[in-house]
Amino acid sequence: MKKIILTGDRPTGRLHLGHYVGSLRRRVELQNSGEFDKIFIMIADAQALTDNADNPEKIRQNIIEVALDYLSVGIDPAKSTIFIQSQVPELAELAFYYMNLVTVSRVQRNPTVKTEIKMRNFEANIPVGFFCYPVSQASDITAFKATTVPVGEDQAPMIELTREIVARFNHIYGETLVEPEILLPTNAACLRLPGTDGKAKMSKSLGNCIYLSDSTKELSKRVKSMYTDPLHLNISDPGHLEGNCPFIYLDAFCRDEHFEKYLPDYKNLQELKDHYTRGGLGDGTVKKLLINILEEELTPIRERRKQYEQDIPAVYDILKRGCAEAREAAAQTLAEVRRAMRIDYFDDAALIEEQARRFRNA
Ligand code: ATP
Ligand code: MG
Repeated sequence: MKKIILTGDRPTGRLHLGHYVGSLRRRVELQNSGEFDKIFIMIADAQALTDNADNPEKIRQNIIEVALDYLSVGIDPAKSTIFIQSQVPELAELAFYYMNLVTVSRVQRNPTVKTEIKMRNFEANIPVGFFCYPVSQASDITAFKATTVPVGEDQAPMIELTREIVARFNHIYGETLVEPEILLPTNAACLRLPGTDGKAKMSKSLGNCIYLSDSTKELSKRVKSMYTDPLHLNISDPGHLEGNCPFIYLDAFCRDEHFEKYLPDYKNLQELKDHYTRGGLGDGTVKKLLINILEEELTPIRERRKQYEQDIPAVYDILKRGCAEAREAAAQTLAEVRRAMRIDYFDDAALIEEQARRFRNA
């Protein structure tokens, strides 16, 4: 069986460090591993509209931002197909059929949807489209026969639902769709990177982000204002690591060689953590180290972005080509789905013949 990847992001803003550690960094590695037959990366504008119906301009503006972020982290259009969800209408048709295979209570139990409904104050009136987006996500994944979906932990319930839909579809209509596997980050800090406020996951909708395209100055400002340990008032106080943002970010980004370069008094992160918990290490030193490490990681990304920004029409061309390619793949799956569901009436000579006979004999 072919190995195929599908992942994506909502164009609700520029991409941030949560996307980077939760999914983007891995995508680039997988892309360059040569192990996959096809890689599809989707800008999920239709999904973003499910909770931004009154603000389509926001989505329209952010498509190019997400595309620039993709290209600047190293997603290579020669190896990966980048496309825009709404330009592949086959996805909507698939979702329409899948909705019959899922119950309302099944979607209501989805913990990510539950949190998001609360976050958006949708409790009293959830848009139907928003409520159904996990089903539409199942069609995005299955349309490309994806075997592997590299995403953050919040997406686990969506992949679970997709697997259920696939199993149910194949059971009713015959083996047609492929059950995908989720590929989660291996490092715990990357599963759900917290925002700079330390409260929830870093999320565009919460304004607690460090963006991949932030300048050196913005980055430094955001790290300096990060939530640390409220009990660590004086440098000599013992510090706590739990929920301490700079340390969580170091878990996600730091390698031993960074110490030699930026903080040679310590060999590795464990030594730094030990000193902090013992007392005698200030938050400023930890934050300075983090700024250096993030700067090193983000500088080449920023530079590549600057280059792509010089030729925006070329970026739209990349997207247009990607959409055509994605549409072809999705159309093929949709044809198989229609055949399996036996709604391919005009291609079904036996059906026409059978009906003709029935009426002749009547
Ligand atoms: P929005 O607030 O509009 O939902 P978002 O910041 O949650 O935006 P999405 O576009 O919903 O971002 O997520 C895209 C991908 O990035 C998903 O695979 C998701 O799991 C991953 N991701 C998003 N935020 C984080 C995070 N803080 N830590 C790890 N992974 C994340
Ligand atoms: Mg989200």
